[in-house]
Amino acid sequence: MRQLYGIYGAGGCGRGVMPLLAEQAEGAVELVFVDDSGKADRVNGYPVWTWEAFLMQTDREKAIAIAIANSEIREQINRKRQGAAVGLIDVISRNSVVMDDVEIGPGCLISPFVTMTSNIRIGSHFHCNIGSYVEHDCRIGNYVTFAPGVRCNGNVHIGDHAYVGSGAILRNGNADKPLVIGAGAVVGMGAVVTRDVASGSVVAGNPAREMAPKV
Ligand code: UDP
Repeated sequence: MRQLYGIYGAGGCGRGVMPLLAEQAEGAVELVFVDDSGKADRVNGYPVWTWEAFLMQTDREKAIAIAIANSEIREQINRKRQGAAVGLIDVISRNSVVMDDVEIGPGCLISPFVTMTSNIRIGSHFHCNIGSYVEHDCRIGNYVTFAPGVRCNGNVHIGDHAYVGSGAILRNGNADKPLVIGAGAVVGMGAVVTRDVASGSVVAGNPAREMAPKV
């Protein structure tokens, strides 16, 4: 019996990951979407199942890739996955480039045209979207999300659950003083980040500045 692989999330992110997983699995597994919305029975030719229906397939070994941009939801689903003893899939596009001494934690989704150079450490559940790059000596935490086209230069340290918007540029740090993006920070699209970003803050613009908190 073939293994069963689910992409959790049939939204924009999941639909971009399914073709990569299909290519990676080379027909050796059955592929479905898992989604809680109940909006559609099929998406792009694949069945969409609820989590409960997925779990009911007890005759097969099961694993999921969690393809939802919101990192808090990714973490919730991962906890649910662990509780159900379902496996976790890494999806790494064949036309991404990963160079020397790069460690990437479990549950990653690495999109086409991503480049990671050398001596990089990345935690679990990293989403690195289309055309982003990660340069030498970067340290990236767990559940970090890069939208498409992020330019993350050398010696940048990024905390857990940070989100970096499309086209943002993170200036390089150096070995003695890395550029730090704090945990849970949000970097707006197109931002040019030249200084450290505090945990939980939202920055945007060129040079990136902290946005006033909502009142
Ligand atoms: N979703 C889900 N369970 C959750 C949260 C989200 O199944 O707890 C699904 C949601 O129904 C939607 C998808 O995840 O189909 C998210 O898609 P969206 O296009 O909103 O965001 P993205 O794909 O960019 O993360």
